[in-house]
Parts: sequence; structure tokens; C-alpha cells
Amino acid sequence: MDNLPLIDLHCHLADEQYTVNEILDIIFNCQKENIILFSMSTNFDDYQINLNYSNYPNVFIGFGIHPYEAHKIIKNNFWQEEIEKIFQTPNPKLKFIGEVGLDLYRIPETQNQQIEVFEFFVYLATKYKLPLSIHSRKAEKEAYYILNKYQKQTPLSAVFHSFTCIDKELINKIIENNWYFGFNGIITFKKSHELQEVIKYIYQAKGNITCETDSPYISPEPYRGKKNYPQNIKIIYEKIKSILNTDKFINQLPIETKAIES
Ligand SMILES: [Zn+2]
Repeated sequence: MDNLPLIDLHCHLADEQYTVNEILDIIFNCQKENIILFSMSTNFDDYQINLNYSNYPNVFIGFGIHPYEAHKIIKNNFWQEEIEKIFQTPNPKLKFIGEVGLDLYRIPETQNQQIEVFEFFVYLATKYKLPLSIHSRKAEKEAYYILNKYQKQTPLSAVFHSFTCIDKELINKIIENNWYFGFNGIITFKKSHELQEVIKYIYQAKGNITCETDSPYISPEPYRGKKNYPQNIKIIYEKIKSILNTDKFINQLPIETKAIES
């Protein structure tokens, strides 16, 4: 049990907040500490950077267009072809479609473009059988609705990354579909009581709980407000164990474990 790796299921190595030296430090330190990273992409440039680092054994990657970028990408007439090309190129380290989704909090005015791009990625998830890492800020129900529409035709796998919704009905539907909830530094914040109750509820209902840092964003306490690093995944694991009052918590994964063993 002790040598199970810790898994950061959603971080951003390609984020401009990190220097090249910092990224290499992160990768080597994580290797030493038996931490596996899933580095998400928010656009094509990110993906090229992630692709380079995916040569390291403990780095896996995702490709997606973030909802903040959806309205930019669809100005290109061939956006769908260009996105699909990435999944047509065989790559054993490409394990996720992400980060994709909807954000009705920060940029509700691009809702229609966001939906168009997200739906295309959900279609690709069914076609290429990859799990989705979904951003759904103030848009959990809308994201659920789209996933459910496609799931009726072909089963799909999805992680609701950075989950903060407390709506029991929606939580139950996600559990029924055997999808995943991603929790990060937010659960260490002082005002996270309701979210901590949500974690307990999901655990008791045998729902799938995953850990992530969303580095360089959302540093857990006591580093709140500072730049975040995937090594802080240890704090997230410990916090979840203390909320659930168990040592037996294991990160559930939407991918086969043998696929990430080196
Ligand atoms: Zn993210």
C-alpha cells in the first residue's frame, strides 16, 4: 500500500507562471516522491510544451481548448480538423481530453461558442475513448446535460475537475453515471465546510473521488494566494483523509492503473 504513487490528476506544467527550470524541478522532485502528473493543455501552444515534457516517465498529458479560449479558436474555419488531428496521432502519454468545458462565471457572453467547442470534445471523447477533464464553473448542470446527451449513445468517462457544487441532485446524477469528482486546494480553505460535507456524501455513496492541484493555481492552505506546485498534492490527500476520517482513501482513476505504471 505504501508504495502506491500519489496522483495529481490535473495540473498545468505549461502555464506561463513556470520557468523551464521550475518545470524540470517539479518533474524531478515528483519522481523522487513517487508523484505522477497529468498536465492539462488549454490551447495548442500549451499542448506542444506538454508534449515535450511527456517524455518523462511520470508525466502524462491532456489536450483540450479551455472555455476561455473557445471563442478564439472557432474563428478558424478548420478548428475541428485541427483539434482532431491531435487525437489521430498515436501517443501513449496522451490520456485525457482536457482542459475543456464551460465557464458561465467569468465569460458568460461566449456561452454559445463554449458549448460548440465543448460538444465537439465530448464527441471526440466517445470516438477516441478518452476521459474528459472538465472545467464547469457555475455551469455544472449545463456540462452534465451535454455529457448525458452523448452518454446515451456511447458510454463516456469524465472528471468534474475543481468540483465545488453542492447540489445533491446533480451530485447523485454524476455518481449514477460513474463519473468522477476532482478536489483540490479549495477543500483546505476556511470556508469549505459545505464542500467537505459533499466529499463525505460522495464517499459514503461510493462515488469516485480524485485529487488534483490545478497548479500553478489554487494553492492549498497554508500557501493560499501563492504559486502552487504539484508536490502539494500530498496536502490534498492528507486533507481528504482527515475529512473522511480514514487512512484507506485511494484516488479513483478514470484510466487503468497499469497504463500509468512505468
Ligand atoms: Zn485547470
